[in-house]
Amino acid sequence: MTSAAPGKGLDTRIGIFGGGQLGRMMALEARRMGVHTTVLDPDPRCSAGQVADRLLTAPFADAGAARQLAQSCDVLTYEFEHIDAAVVSDAASVRPVHPSLEVLKLVQHRVQQKQGLAQLGFPLAQFQQVDTWQDMQQAVSVIGLPAVLKTATSGYDGKGQAVLRQTSDVEPSYQQLRPRSDMLVLEQFIHFEKELSVICARDRQGNLACYPAVENIHRNNILDITLAPARVSQEVAEAAQTLAQAVAQKLRVIGLVCVEMFLTKDNTLLINELAPRPHNSGHWTLDACATSQFEQLVRILCGLPLGSTQQTTPAVMANLLGDVWLAANGKPGFAAALDVPGVKLHLYGKHGTLPGRKMGHLTALAPTQDAALARALAARGGLTGANSPN
Ligand code: AMP
Repeated sequence: MTSAAPGKGLDTRIGIFGGGQLGRMMALEARRMGVHTTVLDPDPRCSAGQVADRLLTAPFADAGAARQLAQSCDVLTYEFEHIDAAVVSDAASVRPVHPSLEVLKLVQHRVQQKQGLAQLGFPLAQFQQVDTWQDMQQAVSVIGLPAVLKTATSGYDGKGQAVLRQTSDVEPSYQQLRPRSDMLVLEQFIHFEKELSVICARDRQGNLACYPAVENIHRNNILDITLAPARVSQEVAEAAQTLAQAVAQKLRVIGLVCVEMFLTKDNTLLINELAPRPHNSGHWTLDACATSQFEQLVRILCGLPLGSTQQTTPAVMANLLGDVWLAANGKPGFAAALDVPGVKLHLYGKHGTLPGRKMGHLTALAPTQDAALARALAARGGLTGANSPN
């Protein structure tokens, strides 16, 4: 097999750890550009495997498979961060991994992530590391209630966290979460005005391209709606972009980093967490940006110039969870949804419908933000028959 030097244009072969929807949308963009992708995932029917050029079916902990991925590609990336860093490290000795192993390790551990960001001077909600029951009591006395207790590892979409509202919540939450992680972190509960995120792209030369700040609405701790752009002042939007750029620069990210933030009631931005990969809050870029987040990552990995992050029209993204299929008895009303003007449907080809499982999303485009939101909600309602007169 011939091997192109990494980052030499469109003949670069990209290896992706993880075959979920992020890998799928990236592989689709790569395919459009004629770039070859190989996905590593344990599930032979995974989302990304259906569209990538090649699928390596193996457990993520299989160092031999990771090596094989590295040897058959020019450059590697990952679409989720809960992956064994030792395996990625081994693969990184064969081919470059972007974003770097250091960035991956930092985000894998919530406490290290927070400490790292705090040391670099980034604004965060007050937090305390918790190892023991004594630490827990001490942390509650410093931070006060309400507070949020989170596991340091393996938490995503609100898994591995509990909101402590009163003193009687403290011990049960500690007992429940402590065995799940090597460490916990207690965080001040932020009565935020809005949740925002910004995706920033950085190439190997250090050039930056930042997407507009977007507004995220969560339901049951899972992203539900993204409004692009965020309904905030220009000043706040620019401050959010400046913060995300600073994160990308200080961490020397090569690739994408999504910076999730809280906007407090006094207009302060606090970083909640980072994701060094394409992010659910950037799916709208496929339909409403000159360059999607996925194309941007493909460009960076291939050593091509960054694309414009210019937004072409107001857009609202609505996630489609397994609950939609369950509410529609397995047959969502796609015709009703697509009857709404300006709606783009994205399904991830997942086998098996579970509540809370991300099955797809739709993006509604319209001349105004309000109209885009109304269209997104109407289209999603159409999937479950919620818009029908009876
Ligand atoms: P995370 O897994 O940390 O992204 O948290 C998931 C969601 O829980 C966030 O998007 C917020 O909606 C909420 N959340 C997390 N941490 C806090 C906090 N310190 N204060 C208030 N809400 C929070």
